[in-house]
Amino acid sequence: MQSYVFPGNIDKDILKIGSRQIPYMRTFEFSNTVKQIEQMLLSMINCDNGRTIIYTASGTGAMDAIVANYVSTKRKALIINGGSFGQRWFELCKYYRCNCFNYVVEFARDIEYDKLEDSIIKEKPDVLLCQHHETSTGQLFNIKKIADLCKKHQISLVVDAISSFLAEPLNMDELEIDICITSSQKGFNIPPGLSIIFFSQNMLNYPFNHKGYYFDFIENFRNLTRGQTPYSPATTLFLQLHERCKQITQMGVATLIDEVKLKSEFFKNLCKESGWLMPAQTPANAITGFFVNRNEDKIFRSLVEEKEIYIMPGSRKGFFRISHMGVQTLQDLQDLRDMIILIETR
Ligand SMILES: *Cc1c(COP(=O)(O)O)cnc(C)c1O
Repeated sequence: MQSYVFPGNIDKDILKIGSRQIPYMRTFEFSNTVKQIEQMLLSMINCDNGRTIIYTASGTGAMDAIVANYVSTKRKALIINGGSFGQRWFELCKYYRCNCFNYVVEFARDIEYDKLEDSIIKEKPDVLLCQHHETSTGQLFNIKKIADLCKKHQISLVVDAISSFLAEPLNMDELEIDICITSSQKGFNIPPGLSIIFFSQNMLNYPFNHKGYYFDFIENFRNLTRGQTPYSPATTLFLQLHERCKQITQMGVATLIDEVKLKSEFFKNLCKESGWLMPAQTPANAITGFFVNRNEDKIFRSLVEEKEIYIMPGSRKGFFRISHMGVQTLQDLQDLRDMIILIETR
């Protein structure tokens, strides 16, 4: 099987952990594992003296928690809505009845930062919610420009870095990001089921709201201080995350990003060669999004049925996405391109 979704093909040592018996988690050993994970995570994203909360939940769980615990304490949120994940911020704000302004960005376009500033001046938000990479289109936003606007207008910045973390450089302290999120099946390329919230140091004494029992920040912080989760953790996933953090710490975040970038650029060149339009104005490393020219209704099923290959269909006709976070060689990518061409020209 070859997977170009989230996660992609997973490293063998990580897979092995998934086949082992599961140790009890209310132990000194498990607490130590969790504390080590937290330290490695904070150093990967450069969040000195910050904290993390790791939920047994997919990425949307962490987004939900942020809106319920944090955004609900604010006067007004500005949401960068450049696709289905920006739309999710918007829907969460509506769900929790948070006052918000929905700043819509066209499909696969970059933000017009001057216009964004005009909206900020007009709407006067005190918190901004965005994606670093809008995974539904492949568009990477300029997080430095967003962060500079937030600093200038004193707006708290929350970044969904779920599909950019470990694919693009991201430095929380330098950008003065208050809260960031990632999740297990994206950058870490381990099975889905864990989401991680990073809190910068200045968020630690914040008077968070209590609007959801399971996701309550204060209760989770209290338990995580001793390396425990308030409710049953997905123990195996924590062990896989621990191993993956050790691997990444050893190789270095920059090296990992370079590897993803190499695969991404290689495949993007193949797309160009193949005459496939890539709509992203500023393409992210994590995925390649492209339009095929024919037989778009056959490509997904034929790859699954004939080759056990998974790619991600997009929200528009003929639009597909390939993730570059998984274990894949340049030859794999070349073969994938050739197979799609074959189906396309049948
Ligand atoms: C995957 C993803 C999420 C979370 O989706 P889940 O299905 O809940 O894991 C959120 N934001 C972005 C940018 C993503 O890529």
